Amino acid sequence: MHPAAHYSVGEIEISVVSDGYFKLDAGAVMGLVPRVLWEPILGAENIDAEHRMKLGLNCIVVRNMGEVLLVDTGFGNKLTGAIREKAFPGDYGHLLDNLAANGLTPEDITVVANTHLHADHCGWNTVRGADGKLRATFPNARYYIQAGEYEAATHPNERTRGTYFAGNFEPLAASGQLELVTGETELIPGVMYWPTPGHTADHDSIAMTSRGETAIYVGDLVHHAVQAERDAWIAAFDILPLVSLESKKKLAARALQDNALLICVHNAFPGVGRLTEREGKRKFVDE
Ligand SMILES: [Zn+2]
Repeated sequence: MHPAAHYSVGEIEISVVSDGYFKLDAGAVMGLVPRVLWEPILGAENIDAEHRMKLGLNCIVVRNMGEVLLVDTGFGNKLTGAIREKAFPGDYGHLLDNLAANGLTPEDITVVANTHLHADHCGWNTVRGADGKLRATFPNARYYIQAGEYEAATHPNERTRGTYFAGNFEPLAASGQLELVTGETELIPGVMYWPTPGHTADHDSIAMTSRGETAIYVGDLVHHAVQAERDAWIAAFDILPLVSLESKKKLAARALQDNALLICVHNAFPGVGRLTEREGKRKFVDE
């Protein structure tokens, strides 16, 4: 479906590998911002008759010193019925095929990390076996999840339960592959969980540094790169929007200071670029 897109920072190799795309109400993605402001930027032709926009499902494979880290795992192939058709319409479930097209089997993945546990970020964490039981998709991997996010996901409320599906993470605890961590944590050499709360209270981006170069997988700190250009443009999905605002300022400062490669989960594939700033105006430039 998509060939992988390959990048590197120093010694670290990064491949963007897609699970496909889905569609969300564009007004919800753009939050408080009026349609008259965002529509000319996104392009009216990119909004469908149901007022939805496409969102990519860009996952990354990160390689360094023999470790093979998969960050975020798309929607997977377990959703059915109204959840698949109405809540999360789209064409997805392609991650394993796209990994195979790049010569990677599930057994090759040594570490999996989720930015958070919403359904579009951890669906391929698990897969249903021939016996009908859910099991880890990546049998040799340690799965890193932030402890606070795991707590929120396993105790959802009326607002969050539509996207926290126990089948995506509880089998990992049962199989002994789950490692709950708190705050900044090294996932593989040179690759860190980097706390960027707001979308959820324990949401993390992923920071990769080697030989003075930096890449950041932003997670849902932004849902579209235009939100990296404008601090106040925050999706309606965020649980703590004012905390997102502070995290976005932190991201912009680091992205500009380090000239970091930014990888945006939900931009069109591959969603990779850098932030530039001129006369106080930030611009995301695709690479
Ligand atoms: Zn998302």
